[in-house]
Amino acid sequence: MKFSAEALVIREKNIGESDRLLTLLTKEQGIIKAFASGVKNYKSKKSAGTSLLSFSSFLLEEKGDTYRVREVSPIRVFFGAGDNIKKLALSQYFCELALVLAPMDTESAEFLRLILNSLHFLSAGDKNINLLKAVTELKIIALSGYSPELVSCEGCGCFESDMMYFNLSDGSLWCDKCKTGGNLRPISKTELSAMRHILFSPFDKIYNFSVPDECAAALTKLTEDYLVTQTEHKFATLDFYNSIPED
Ligand SMILES: [Zn+2]
Repeated sequence: MKFSAEALVIREKNIGESDRLLTLLTKEQGIIKAFASGVKNYKSKKSAGTSLLSFSSFLLEEKGDTYRVREVSPIRVFFGAGDNIKKLALSQYFCELALVLAPMDTESAEFLRLILNSLHFLSAGDKNINLLKAVTELKIIALSGYSPELVSCEGCGCFESDMMYFNLSDGSLWCDKCKTGGNLRPISKTELSAMRHILFSPFDKIYNFSVPDECAAALTKLTEDYLVTQTEHKFATLDFYNSIPED
């Protein structure tokens, strides 16, 4: 059975001389794997369309429990040669986030939309990259069912106080008076309102805010630690990203 799908290549593995095994993030079916043969000619559409970070229109054929790429036409290829290494590393981390957190064989429109938007803003270059990282981390962890509870203090229900704390283990929020033990991190008012914005805004607004650069760095440390605590996953691309100094 043949069908078409628009998909982002989130992992590629070369097989032999001219074939690739692709991991694709699709809107209708979430993550699927597909073989692409004959991608050796690096000038061919098939080569460009099946590279990591390509968003392409695929004609796929289902054969047994595998998919084969029959035709592919690139729609947009993110980060060609010559781009900034820090941004390239972050885009690879976005792919790994999707790989670990997006479902298989299940509708995943919001995951795809999130990753495509983040890649778009990252390559456009007009937003702080720590902010883009924070938005992507917090939104994807919320889409995966681990949304933190940031409406108000877990103890007394207050909306904000001078000092609040975020529990990395269960995503709960505590004020200074109510806080008990646990894996608590202080969270500033700016960080809290940024996280509320990302979680509670309609999708097309989640990138529309700004914070001072030093706050963006603290914010993404918080979203990163929350995501890693919740998933208990070691993201190799994140370690690589963090090893590259900012320019
Ligand atoms: Zn309280």
